[in-house]
Amino acid sequence: MDRTKFVSERELEYQRECTERVRAMNAGMTAFVDTYGCQQNEADSERMRGMLREMGYTIVDDDKADVVVINSCAVREHAEQRVLGNIGHMVHYKKINPEQKIILAGCMAGEETVRQTVKKSYRQVDALLDTTSFWRLPETLLRLYEQGGRLIEHAEPDSRIAEGLPVVRTVPHKAYVSIMYGCDNFCSYCIVPYVRGRERSRDPGDVVREVRELAADGCHDIMLLGQNVNSYSGGGADFPELLSRCAEVEGDFTLRFMTSHPKDCSHALIDAIAAHPKVERHIHLPVQSGSDEILRRMNRRYTVEQYCELVDYARKKIPGVIFTSDIIVGFPNESDEDFEGTVELVKRVRYDSIFTFIYSKRAGTPAAEMDDPITHEQKVKRFRRLMALQDEITLEDRRPLIGSTVRVHVDGESKSGELNLTARTQEGRLVSLKGDSGLIGTYANVKVTDITTFSLIGELK
Ligand code: SAH
Ligand code: SF4
Repeated sequence: MDRTKFVSERELEYQRECTERVRAMNAGMTAFVDTYGCQQNEADSERMRGMLREMGYTIVDDDKADVVVINSCAVREHAEQRVLGNIGHMVHYKKINPEQKIILAGCMAGEETVRQTVKKSYRQVDALLDTTSFWRLPETLLRLYEQGGRLIEHAEPDSRIAEGLPVVRTVPHKAYVSIMYGCDNFCSYCIVPYVRGRERSRDPGDVVREVRELAADGCHDIMLLGQNVNSYSGGGADFPELLSRCAEVEGDFTLRFMTSHPKDCSHALIDAIAAHPKVERHIHLPVQSGSDEILRRMNRRYTVEQYCELVDYARKKIPGVIFTSDIIVGFPNESDEDFEGTVELVKRVRYDSIFTFIYSKRAGTPAAEMDDPITHEQKVKRFRRLMALQDEITLEDRRPLIGSTVRVHVDGESKSGELNLTARTQEGRLVSLKGDSGLIGTYANVKVTDITTFSLIGELK
């Protein structure tokens, strides 16, 4: 087995030593991990909470805590502005509690431009900790306490995997399991490969063991995570094989995965989903654009026809499967014709829902150098048109569900209104319903009484 891709036991042992030393000086301090962005960040945050708890901190939901870790997202400029805005506010808390430690973690911490900005203009930030080295959190805190000063130096991404980190899950019946880290695809608009480092896969034995432990603990919702799960390659296993092995683990749970890149989504994967009822009947298959020319300039390495062939094959093999997607509108120089291609594709695939983004220029990516004469107003217009079209499709395709009974897993409490619970169908659709909070973490049969673009409305049977 190739152990060079793993952080060595000696280095992990050093982190445990640092953990003990922080714990020894920790007299009732609190810590808050604030998460932005994708499920991968959620998963990293669960691990950072685990490490903080082992260091003796009480985990709280409050940015006045003694340690605040901001697990940031760099995918779009808007996300970065939000993070910087919040760090801006925190300057006041630090005046009240000068011992507070603020750590900027996540994707932004891997960007050189952010490092420069934080160094000069956000002096309240004590340390940067990029996504490839967050396992060094104990060492980072110890150094801050013992040596003072700031840890804002440049760090190359660490292309290794740290196994066995402790974890604090936000919800006990729901778990993220990272199967791989980083990305080698270099889609021309995307910053992820630069900030999350090279692609590396965990060993299938480690992944299956984690799934087995979760299932034995009664976890009902297990999501396998990676920037591109289809390029998983660990210990000789590919993703269809890993998915099958995980789905064969005993227990009553749903297995989900995120994200599938269409270029490596194989018939073998679709066959594996079809063969295993525990795998969610849903494929999130981001298409990004419905124009071959834009796909080429995005460096996505598939065509609209190849994409549609996959969707058709899956629909044939997996009855009731639903698709969701990510779409970028306003990629540099996207013509009206290119955009019409996207509209046509959305009509053809009929997604259950889509995440639509207006292209955001990311410094250092190839797309940032491309000419872009399209005005922001034009991009917003296209964005709105696509959203309206998808809303129509979502409602039309969900309407026949009214009156039917679906099996759901009750996930949690909803923040809004009468319908106090949220649940998920076997296809991963969100359901809002009224019921006792004791149902959270259990399965239930629900009659669909109405639908919205956001969720199904249900009544307990
Ligand atoms: N690895 C995943 C998702 C990565 S980021 C995948 O390949 O599907 C999630 C989504 O953000 C992407 O699918 C894309 O639609 C969007 N995105 C990434 N970079 C972007 C950018 N520069 N501007 C706008 N949207 C972007
Ligand atoms: Fe970004 Fe493409 Fe990698 Fe997804 S596959 S993270 S969009 S570079």
